[in-house]
Amino acid sequence: MINNTYKYILSDIKNLRGIGIKTSKILKKKGINNVFDLLWKLPKSYTDRSKSTKIKDLKIGEIQTITLTPYKYNFPRIRNLPNRILCKDDTGEMDCVFFNSYEGYIKKILPLNKEITISGKISHFKNKYQMTNPKYVSENSSLIKNKYNNYSLTEGISEKLYNKIINQILLDIPKIIEWHDADILNKFDNISWNDAIINLHKPENIGKYKSNFYERLAYDEILASFLVHSEVRKKIKKIKKQKKIFKSHYQDLILSKLDFRLTTDQIKTLNEINYDLKSDRKMFRLLQGDVGSGKTIVALLAAHNAIKSGFQVAMMAPTEILAKQHYNLARKIFEKEIKIKVLSSKSQNKEKKSIINQLENNSIDIIFGTHAIFQKKIIFKNLGLIIIDEQHKFGVNQRKKLSDKGGDNCDVLLMSATPIPRTLTMTIYGDMDLSIIKEKPKTRKEVKTYTKLDSKIDDILSFIKKEIKLGNQIFWVCPLIDESKKIDHASAVKKFDFLKKKFPNQVALLHGKTDPEEKEIVLNNFLNNKFKILVSTTIIEVGIDFPNANVIIIENANKFGLSQLHQLRGRVGRGEKQSTCILMFKSSLTENAKKRLNILKSSTDGFKISEEDMKLRGFGDILGFKQSGIKMFKLADPIHNSNLFELAEKKIKEIEKFQKNIGKYKTLMKLYDQADIINDIV
Ligand code: ADP
Ligand code: MG
Repeated sequence: MINNTYKYILSDIKNLRGIGIKTSKILKKKGINNVFDLLWKLPKSYTDRSKSTKIKDLKIGEIQTITLTPYKYNFPRIRNLPNRILCKDDTGEMDCVFFNSYEGYIKKILPLNKEITISGKISHFKNKYQMTNPKYVSENSSLIKNKYNNYSLTEGISEKLYNKIINQILLDIPKIIEWHDADILNKFDNISWNDAIINLHKPENIGKYKSNFYERLAYDEILASFLVHSEVRKKIKKIKKQKKIFKSHYQDLILSKLDFRLTTDQIKTLNEINYDLKSDRKMFRLLQGDVGSGKTIVALLAAHNAIKSGFQVAMMAPTEILAKQHYNLARKIFEKEIKIKVLSSKSQNKEKKSIINQLENNSIDIIFGTHAIFQKKIIFKNLGLIIIDEQHKFGVNQRKKLSDKGGDNCDVLLMSATPIPRTLTMTIYGDMDLSIIKEKPKTRKEVKTYTKLDSKIDDILSFIKKEIKLGNQIFWVCPLIDESKKIDHASAVKKFDFLKKKFPNQVALLHGKTDPEEKEIVLNNFLNNKFKILVSTTIIEVGIDFPNANVIIIENANKFGLSQLHQLRGRVGRGEKQSTCILMFKSSLTENAKKRLNILKSSTDGFKISEEDMKLRGFGDILGFKQSGIKMFKLADPIHNSNLFELAEKKIKEIEKFQKNIGKYKTLMKLYDQADIINDIV
C-alpha cells in the first residue's frame, strides 16, 4: 500500500504519460526528476482563457479566446508567405495565420464551416485582426476555455503542455492513506493530502498562503523533517559504547592554572558533556553559545577527559588558522605527556605520513585540523571523541556520516556560535542533544558599535591613533581580496597600502590567498603585539581569539548580514578592555539598512539579532544556508508558519515521550526526506 503511493510520486518523470524524452530531458536539466519535484513547482500566475470575446471587441496585444467559423483557406504558393485562414463570427472577420505549417494539418484543425474555439494573442495586419500560429484550437470549447497556470520553469516546454502534465498527474496520484492524527487534521479543516495538492495547483489559489491546503502541506513538510531528525537521534542513542572513565581532578588541575574561572553555564555544559562521556550510550551533542561565550575551553576540557580515559580525540575547525589556535591552546594547558598534533592541508608530505602513521598506531592523543583530518586514508586506532567547531553548515546527513565514521565508541560534540532563532532549532539541530551557554564571562564589557561614512575616514584614523597609543590592536575587515569589477567591495590590498603609509611598520595584511606559512607568521606576530593593525578579508570571521585586539573596523558593512556582522564584531571584546566596532558605509543608508544596524547597535545578544535578522531578510540568508546546500523547505516558512513549527515540535515530543509507533508516518518521511538518509534509519 505504502509502496504504491510513493512509488508513483517518486517515479522518474520519463515514465509518465504525456512526457516524452525531449520534455523529460528539459525538466531534468531544471532539477525536476520525479512527480514530487513537479508538484512543488508552484504556478506564479495564470492566463485566463476562460471567457470568449466577439471579433469586434478584440483587443490588440492581449491573449483572447474566440469562437469562430473558418470559411476560406488562402494557401499561397510562394515560399515564406504564411497560410491564412479567413474566419468570422456574427460580429466580424479575422485571420488565423500559420507560418511553416502543413496544409493538411491546418485543414484538420480548422475545417471549413465548423464552429471552432481558438485562444491566443491578437495582432493587427492590414487593418484586420489576426492570430498567429494559434496553439489552443478545438471544436470543443470547454477544452480551451480554462485558466492556465504559468509555471516559471517552462522554458522549452509550452504552457499548454506543462498544464496538461500537471493536470494528468493530479488525476493519477494514488490516494494516500492519511498519516496525521485526527486532532492535527482537524486544524486544517480535515483536508486530505491529495485534495491539498490539487488545491495548490488551482489558478485561483495562487498566493493563498494562509489557507488550509497550504498550511497542511507546510505542516507535512515540517513534521517530516522533524521526524527524520528524531529518528536519527533515537538511532544514535541506541548505540552502546564503552564508558569513558576519568577522574575530575585532571580537569580541576587545568582549571586551577587558568587566569579565569568558568562561568556557571560553562560548568553546566561541561557537566552535561562529561555525563555523556561516562555513559554507555554514544554522545551526539551540540554545544551552542554566542561568540566569545567560551566554548573552546569547555571542549578542550572534555577532550582532556576523553584522552585520560584512554581514547584519541579529533578536533576539527573550519579554517587552518582556527585549528592552529586550538592546537596552541591545548599545548599550553594540557598535561605534558599528552601527544598533540596539528594536521594542515599544507603540511609537508613526510610530516603528513608520519602523522597518519602515528594516528593509526595510537601514538597521537589529539589531532587538530580542518576537514582534512577526516579523509579516508586517516585511520584512528582508538578514536573516542570527535569535536567539530563552528560547523553550523553541516547538514543532518553529514553529521550522521561523521558519527558513523567515528565508530560506536566515538562520542560527537559539535560547537556553533551561530544563534538559531527559536523556531529553527528543531529544524536544524533536532537530531542532537543540546547544551547551551547563555551567559558570557562577566569580565566582558559590551562592544560599542558605531556607523561611519567612508568620507569620515579621517575621524577613524585619529581614533585608531589614540587606541594604538594605549597599546591596543585593530582589525580592519574588507570584503574582497582584490578590486572586483562586478562588486565595488573595498579591497584589502588597497587598504593595506593606504594604511601602511599612515602607520608605517604597524600594519599587516591577511587574505584568502596569503601563503599558509606567512599567514601563521602574521597571526603570531599580531598575537604577540608586533604590529597594530591587521587588514584582512572575512577569514578572521570565525573563532579566532585575540584578546588584545579591541577595535574592529568593517568596511562596506551593508554587504554583510547582521549575523555575520555580529560574528565579526565578536572578534573583539574578548579581553577586559572597552572595545569598539565601527561599521563603514559608502553612502548614506536606506531606512531598512538603518533599521538593521540599529538592531546591531542596540543588542549584543546573538539570538535576538538572528531573530530580528530573520524577520527582515528571511531565514535562508541569515545563516548562509542558501549557499551551504542544506535543502530547505519548499512551502514552510519559519517566519510566517512559526505556529506550524510549534505544532510539529509538540507532536514530536509527544511521539518521543510516549514512544509512539511512527509506522504510519513512513510514507510521509519517505516522500519528504530532505536529507536522503531515511533508508539508513527506518
Ligand atoms: P567562543 O565561544 O566564541 O569559541 P572562545 O572559547 O574563543 O569563545 O573564548 C573567548 C575568550 O574568552 C578566550 O580568550 C577565552 O580564553 C576567554 N574565556 C573563556 N572562558 C572565560 C571565562 N569564564 N572568563 C573569562 N574569559 C573566558
Ligand atoms: Mg570558538
